[in-house]
Amino acid sequence: MVMELDILVFGAHPDDVEIGLGGTLIKHARMGYKCGIVDITAGESGSNGTPEVRRAEALKAAEIMGMAMRDCLGFPDARLQVNEDSLRGVIEVIRRYKPKVVIGPYRKDKHPDHLRASQLVREAAHLSGLRRYPADGEPHRPPVVGEFFLAVYDEPSFIIDTSDVYETKIEALYAHQSQFGMVEDTETLVNDPRFVRMIQSRDQYVGSLIQVLYAEGLYMEQKLALDDLMSLRGWERGWKTRLTPDNIVESKEL
Ligand SMILES: [Zn+2]
Repeated sequence: MVMELDILVFGAHPDDVEIGLGGTLIKHARMGYKCGIVDITAGESGSNGTPEVRRAEALKAAEIMGMAMRDCLGFPDARLQVNEDSLRGVIEVIRRYKPKVVIGPYRKDKHPDHLRASQLVREAAHLSGLRRYPADGEPHRPPVVGEFFLAVYDEPSFIIDTSDVYETKIEALYAHQSQFGMVEDTETLVNDPRFVRMIQSRDQYVGSLIQVLYAEGLYMEQKLALDDLMSLRGWERGWKTRLTPDNIVESKEL
């Protein structure tokens, strides 16, 4: 019997999920939800790191984040297509883990792989529920399908406070040493230390929208039902803990 997941997030490349939704996943794993990540490609077209190195780094990051599983589907990086093969691959993962929430990249991202991964995840989440769709596993249609932001930021449907887990998000990012560390020869946008700072700037901006230090946004195309108005969190008057120079979140190597 395969473990069932509460939340399953798909990224096109092995570090995408950490960048856009790392804090949210760490937070939910700490609340006791079973969370998993599936990388649709192995990231072999990136300037630095081999698929083997990137897989080891991705598993290390997943461990830091408290994930219940992390898989790699191995579809071609930089040439990702939405076709029968890739749809079947994503559908079979959804059917195997039966997540309640499935999240993929945002539909208007500018990176072609992110765009196609977005379409792939949304189509697969629907088709997965069709009894006669030719893929292995019992039909399962996840009730909630969301999208996380990467290269393009847009108006979020709601915002998740990630302030408490921010240091762990940075630690998970730096687990991808071949990408974010300066250990390889090829200089890229990503291994310039400013890149991690940009991720932090975005998370701080999103945090400021709900008056917290760090947060991540999620986009939901569908309308969502809410049972309990009391589970909504609005602006609070003042913070419960006073920030001192000792407990301000600092990231390494900045
Ligand atoms: Zn990517």
